[in-house]
Amino acid sequence: MAEVVSIAAAAASLPWDVDAVRADFPALAQLVNGHPLVYLDNAATAQKPRAVLAALENYYQRDCGNIHRSVHQLGERATEAYERARRNAQAFLGAAEPREIVFTRGTTEAINLVAATYGAANLHAGDEILLTGMEHHSNIVPWQLLAERTGARVKVAGVNDRGEVEMAEFERQLSPRTKIAAFGHISNALGTVNPVAEWTARAHAAGAVVLVDGAQSAPHLPIQVGALGCDFFAFSGHKVFGPTGIGVLWGRAALLEAMPPYQGGGDMIASVSFERTTYNRIPYKFEAGTPHIAGAIGLGAALEYLQSLGMARAAAYEQELARYGAERLAALPGVRLIGQARERTAVFSLVIEGVHPHDVATVLDTEGIAVRAGHHCAQPIMDRFGVPATTRASLAFYNTRTEIDRLAEGLEKVRRVFQF
Ligand code: PMP
Repeated sequence: MAEVVSIAAAAASLPWDVDAVRADFPALAQLVNGHPLVYLDNAATAQKPRAVLAALENYYQRDCGNIHRSVHQLGERATEAYERARRNAQAFLGAAEPREIVFTRGTTEAINLVAATYGAANLHAGDEILLTGMEHHSNIVPWQLLAERTGARVKVAGVNDRGEVEMAEFERQLSPRTKIAAFGHISNALGTVNPVAEWTARAHAAGAVVLVDGAQSAPHLPIQVGALGCDFFAFSGHKVFGPTGIGVLWGRAALLEAMPPYQGGGDMIASVSFERTTYNRIPYKFEAGTPHIAGAIGLGAALEYLQSLGMARAAAYEQELARYGAERLAALPGVRLIGQARERTAVFSLVIEGVHPHDVATVLDTEGIAVRAGHHCAQPIMDRFGVPATTRASLAFYNTRTEIDRLAEGLEKVRRVFQF
């Protein structure tokens, strides 16, 4: 054991070999508009390492069968790979048991699942759901739908000028009526890293159940759900370098067991008759129908890949990029950074007075630089900062300082084109 720990410690102190990491991602090695691609749209979706592509190919070429009821070889292999992916997700999150891992289509479906099952069974008129002002629409609208159905009320902890929710504000919005608190770990629009363990403790003290939207934290931070203390944690496969159409809801076993099913269909039942249907045990109770088998297997491969890189090392490297990028971009005349939280990741939301974000992104694309322009599915936080949209560059552990320089040069070109 001591040996294992010391190997892990040695690995953690190794320098980050970004060129070796980049070589694992074939998509990064392409020219776009005649320039080497600079992919800075990782908050929208991340590129996929060879390990993920190989796992998908292997499933479709060799192991393609349906899961759980097959007695033939292919079905057995598929089942084994699917359930191994569940164990990978368990390990990735530090969850107690594999049955606490529910495969969903992504973060959005995971949050909808909790709202439609836990929420519908436990919320009543007059109850409150606490969100923050920087949530993604996926962590707003399911709760609004729940509020409409139950008569509960959505409350919002406001965001300060730096792009943070202060603890006093969070506590002010909590009350004995708060039944659910749901908040993002990292804001996709601002890059703010929220103190979710502290918020969770406060919400629990008020008697609320806590859901953490981990869509933007799972790709960038080591996650231990035990340390966060939350009750539910959701993330998307495609943002953690895995396939689209697959994601994870982690929930405490006791809560999942007590929740009604989400959708009805195959696999989620124990027995069906027209008189009485009984439900399967967790997590299968929440996985109706043939799931995205290949997606789960690909996600499992992505999580194994991340574990082998070491999320703590990746996070340390990204922190360096975040510091460098913030300095480099802040020095550009006419460029305003939205969101200056003290704890933040390498997400840069930019506004250039007089130039529409879509025009900025279009000019950058001519240089082979992929960024996103728009409201980032977070309109309330755009309103809070009085802008309809921003240009967002969001980095991952395969990005480099040179790419940040290319972004800065691209923004200089925007300046020349639009003469701001
Ligand atoms: N929450 C946050 C913070 C996000 O950034 C996103 C994706 N942009 C989502 C939720 C929704 O994720 P998905 O579309 O993969 O379900």
